[in-house]
Formats: sequence, structure tokens, C-alpha cells
Amino acid sequence: MGRMRKKADLPEKMCPVCDRPFAWRKKWEKVWDEVKYCSDRCRREAKKRA
Ligand SMILES: [Zn+2]
Repeated sequence: MGRMRKKADLPEKMCPVCDRPFAWRKKWEKVWDEVKYCSDRCRREAKKRA
């Protein structure tokens, strides 16, 4: 105990589509700098609105 990684340690970003913060996910490990949206759904939504 005491060495568990806290959820708050994960980096977060704001999703410009749904205006909610989203946290780092394993699947974004390699592309986190490029991630802008919380989900594929929001990414599609962003394109629709543009
Ligand atoms: Zn979103």
C-alpha cells in the first residue's frame, strides 16, 4: 500500500467538443500529444461542426 498510482497523477486535457476533461489512457500512450478529443465520437463531431 502507499505506492499505488493515484488517478490524479494522470495527465488530463479538455475536450473542445463536449467541454469535459478526459484523462490519459493506455491506448494514447504513443500519441498523447496529438490527442485532442476524448473519444472517436467527439472527433467525428468536431469534423461535422467545422
Ligand atoms: Zn469529448
